[in-house]
Amino acid sequence: MPPESYASARKRMVDEQIRARGVRDPRVLEAMEQVPRERFLPADRVAEAFADRALPIDCGQTISQPFMVASMTELLDVQSTHRVLEIGTGSGYQTAILSRLAAHVYTIERIRALQENARRLLASLGVANVSYAVGDGTLGWPEAAPFDRIMVTAGAPEVPRALVDQLADGGRLVIPIGGRNEQTLTVVEQRGGRTIEMPRYACRFVQLIGRNAWPESADEYNGSVDET
Ligand code: SAH
Repeated sequence: MPPESYASARKRMVDEQIRARGVRDPRVLEAMEQVPRERFLPADRVAEAFADRALPIDCGQTISQPFMVASMTELLDVQSTHRVLEIGTGSGYQTAILSRLAAHVYTIERIRALQENARRLLASLGVANVSYAVGDGTLGWPEAAPFDRIMVTAGAPEVPRALVDQLADGGRLVIPIGGRNEQTLTVVEQRGGRTIEMPRYACRFVQLIGRNAWPESADEYNGSVDET
């Protein structure tokens, strides 16, 4: 497909799947239109890049459905001064969206091969305001804390304590909370020492595997993983 066709396919994706379902934030809509989703998929999946669903990437993981990426980003309410922590780099697609809205993004992925791919791809797209780490994101990134915003793109049994502890006062965290196969997308806010959890809607994510989430055995991926 020539590049203009990808651009118009992205525009259609935004109109039909995202704007039509109520995402309104113009910065989010613009980012979804600009970031080349087609570049974040394995070669044999590019034809499905704009399909209205999650798609498999390498190492048994997934790239989220376009609507889910847009909706979670809108719920996170990222401002241009914000330092954002993302857990679950995966393909790097959500990272690319966040990097257009935030001052800086810190992203953690437990599977090294995915992190390396994402890092290379984002560098080739000229994305320069992202720091990368391989390890257990359920422990957060204490050296870079506090964060104004935290996004977790894998499902957890409960909100990992370390992440709440690394949230700035007035900060916000978006995370799927629930069982292994279905979760509730939850917005968590830290206000004056109080933590408020606001459930939003049902969703389905791969499992968040780590010390403050599901145990390793819950994962189907048995390749190389780095522990912090
Ligand atoms: N945001 C990604 C979605 C990736 S799927 C995208 O747009 O492509 C979720 C990712 O979370 C997977 O790559 C998985 O390996 C990763 N993950 C699971 N548990 C993790 C943990 N404890 N720390 C960091 N990454 C984790």
